[in-house]
Amino acid sequence: RFITFEGGEGVGKSTQVRRLLTNLSQRAIDVVRTREPGGTPKAEAIRSFILQGRSEAWGAGAEAVLFAAARLDHVNEMIAPNLAKGTWVISDRFCDSTRAYQGLTGGVDDRLINALEDLALDGHTPDLTIVLDMDPLTAFKRVEQRTLEEGLQATGDRFEKEEIEWHQLLRANFLDIARNNPDRCVVVSAEQDEEALETAIWTVVSERFPE
Ligand code: C5P
Repeated sequence: RFITFEGGEGVGKSTQVRRLLTNLSQRAIDVVRTREPGGTPKAEAIRSFILQGRSEAWGAGAEAVLFAAARLDHVNEMIAPNLAKGTWVISDRFCDSTRAYQGLTGGVDDRLINALEDLALDGHTPDLTIVLDMDPLTAFKRVEQRTLEEGLQATGDRFEKEEIEWHQLLRANFLDIARNNPDRCVVVSAEQDEEALETAIWTVVSERFPE
């Protein structure tokens, strides 16, 4: 099984990916966790190159192509081999992020996004995508709070650069992607505490994969 988590900035994806991994492992399911952009050494190199060099502004089209190159390596070297041996894969972001950030929000043509997606996925479409949905103002406050508490320094974080309207558009675009892929995507409100959200996600996953 291949499960992806998607959503805007600061919605709590990484925490929930970790919690789902624990819940699956406790049921003796072989499962690995990964992330995008990145997930393999070469793909992580592309991630740092783009996110840390963002001031050089490659533009959304070039970013989409570079992230697709990273995804091709990630699928070939990590995702496909694990799925082939029956290991579940959970990815913190995947192809819907490219469609939402570079495509719908960044203005890159649908045809390019579709073509890149086809090439990089090579049939490895996720079985289930959890879209974590949250008002960007709430997300911003949460990130600000965490940064203060933990002294976190986010790399390439969009909160510093983009207007709130941009985050609202990004949110609407993720919801559009979910609406257009109703068999694959489930939207879960991330505006609940971590435990309640974990339970909501577990309900979705165990209903989808009852075995
Ligand atoms: O998921 P995570 O927060 O680690 O993502 C790191 C950064 O990468 C985010 O700030 C996000 O804006 C950016 N990103 C992007 N385009 C993508 C995927 C992620 O700009 N396709």
